[in-house]
Amino acid sequence: MFDALSEKLQATLDDVRQRGTLTEADVNAAMREIRLALLEADVNYKVVKSFTATVKERCLGADVLGQLNPGQQVVGIVHEELKALLGGDTIELEFSSRPPTVILMSGLQGSGKTTAVGKLAKLLKEDKGSAVAVAACDVQRPAAVEQLRLVGEQAGATVYDRGTELPALDVARWALDQAKQDGKDVLIVDTAGRLHVDQELMAELVAIRDAVRPQTILLTVDAMTGQDAVNVAEQFQAAAGFDGVVMSKLDGDARGGAALSVKAVTGKPILFASTGEKLGDFQVFHPDRMAQRILG
Ligand code: GDP
Repeated sequence: MFDALSEKLQATLDDVRQRGTLTEADVNAAMREIRLALLEADVNYKVVKSFTATVKERCLGADVLGQLNPGQQVVGIVHEELKALLGGDTIELEFSSRPPTVILMSGLQGSGKTTAVGKLAKLLKEDKGSAVAVAACDVQRPAAVEQLRLVGEQAGATVYDRGTELPALDVARWALDQAKQDGKDVLIVDTAGRLHVDQELMAELVAIRDAVRPQTILLTVDAMTGQDAVNVAEQFQAAAGFDGVVMSKLDGDARGGAALSVKAVTGKPILFASTGEKLGDFQVFHPDRMAQRILG
């Protein structure tokens, strides 16, 4: 994951760390290297520009260069700013004081959304002991309903599905009533995915959102699609809104551009990382640990 970026940043920072003294020219040279490494990792260019400007300003200000171990201080600043870029502090899901907590899952077809429903159900069940139900509101494709049934059952969640007989909005309303009746703690609502963002998709998502009033809307994006994932996130943000991102397929993402850009571009943090095809390959996203991992 992010191997090339990691290697380049580590080489640059090792060089900085080893110097007894640092000049402004040394900082400028290091910033150039960092800028290149981030651009090669497919990080949004505006994000790169503002990141390096902030790091440089902090390194040149507050007499960092005049202090003992200036290199170490610079490394610390890069770490802090990388953590901020990845979202800052870890963000936990919010739970409603009046269950069920409703989580609405959105995303394009193939992004890993339906798998993420199962993964999140398993995580909440195992980590929080929550009684979880999932609702099959992707009624466009019978295969999608069948897939949710499978992953839901594997996760140990109750699956509310009506096949493809009812419109998605009716299934969503019905599932919410069921979840209340059954005393579920959490209801995760899967929604239709399409290959591209279109008006029909968004209208359906907005209608379901307004009907089930979710505590949290999660958008699943495929990390392997780089800046396309960020563009998709911007479109969902404009049309239906979301609260947090599930960054999927991080295991196959060699570059890291989407993960490092999405918070800065959309203002919404990554809440979960999906790192494989199995239901257990799913974690709460910790910006601090990710920054640590990148910087070694
Ligand atoms: P949906 O159409 O958005 O619901 O996408 P799916 O959940 O069906 O996932 C599409 C494909 O991506 C499936 O083959 C999944 O097994 C695979 N997939 C989902 N998440 C991940 C992940 O984190 N890593 C990898 N390697 N594959 C994933």
